[in-house]
Amino acid sequence: MLPYGHQSINDDDIAAVSEVLRGDWLTTGPAVTAFEEALASYVGATRAVSVTSGTAALHTAYAAAGVGPGDEVITTPMTFVATASCAVTLGATVKFADIDPATGNIDPDSVAALVTDRTKVIAPVDFAGQPVPIDRLNEIAHAAGALTVEDAAHSIGSRTQGRPVGSVADLTTFSFFPTKNMTTAEGGAVATLDADLGQRAHEFHFIGLVRDRDRMRHPDEGPWHQEVHEWGLNYRLSDVHAALGLSQLKRLEQFKARRAEVFARYQEAFAGVEGLGIHGVAEGVDPTWHLYPIRIKDGRRREVFDAMREQGIGVQVNYMPVYWHPLFEDLGDRRGLCPNAEAFYAEELSLPMFADLTDADVERVIETLIGIVAH
Ligand SMILES: *Cc1c(COP(=O)(O)O)cnc(C)c1O
Repeated sequence: MLPYGHQSINDDDIAAVSEVLRGDWLTTGPAVTAFEEALASYVGATRAVSVTSGTAALHTAYAAAGVGPGDEVITTPMTFVATASCAVTLGATVKFADIDPATGNIDPDSVAALVTDRTKVIAPVDFAGQPVPIDRLNEIAHAAGALTVEDAAHSIGSRTQGRPVGSVADLTTFSFFPTKNMTTAEGGAVATLDADLGQRAHEFHFIGLVRDRDRMRHPDEGPWHQEVHEWGLNYRLSDVHAALGLSQLKRLEQFKARRAEVFARYQEAFAGVEGLGIHGVAEGVDPTWHLYPIRIKDGRRREVFDAMREQGIGVQVNYMPVYWHPLFEDLGDRRGLCPNAEAFYAEELSLPMFADLTDADVERVIETLIGIVAH
């Protein structure tokens, strides 16, 4: 089965990991520091905190933003459940804004309509790798005294109006799961330009430990002393994973270029084909394409999904609207809440998209899909 997403691992990646395994530091050592510094620099941030997953990154970013009981987090239903469920974990209420049907990204007008004096965070997702209209979302958030947390699990390496994703929201989260644009096996990161938010993220992912003597309540306890002021978790990424991340980061521009070629070939092949709708691309964005989302018209998505899989092509669906999950149903969210997202979900099919796809793979996907919809 040709998968819809797959990691690209080369000899340099393997050598980087082996070197750590032969060394003295398996975790919280020089590879973590080097990876965080390289990542911050690449995404245009001043601080990056590496964590154990994209889910951990969201939990950490929301905690750094101060999300808690009574707060509201506005996000998109067109995402992986963690974008919303991590806010629930912290006691917040999640409100779902509808999407722009062309791009699958959150619609700023729909966000603006949901803002209240309890809004703490606006959490957009760069669907498929395409950056959201962040300037507008920052404006809406900041006018309400809230912060933006951009879930960039799909979009490391993407740029918007010339600026890298990671440098445009108050906090940005990444995932390094194997199918994403680059991998550490499991892993993620939080990036920010705000020193205070960065330090809060760091402490949350490090059990809440305070090691700065100037901030200690009991500074004279002894040289061994460290304090916890606010609770945190152990979300530290190991040096083994960070070494892979550092090596992958060096390859990310190549991955991006290949993903762009595949995206362009699919768009060209499917434009104007009856029964299909191609993905919308906004002005001024330069995405690292994580997904290739095609629309299957005429109520045939399920049939086409099954037929593609039968022919050995591992398609996927991204995503069922998050509030259809029983967690959110049980919290009172009902179907019909975001009509654009529901219509998008009904037609969406993700075709194979990864850096090591060959031209022959791409042509096979194209021929197979066109063959199926022609019947
Ligand atoms: C993958 C993903 C996550 C979660 O990342 P993990 O590393 O799998 O925990 C969060 N949000 C989005 C949009 C994702 O695609």
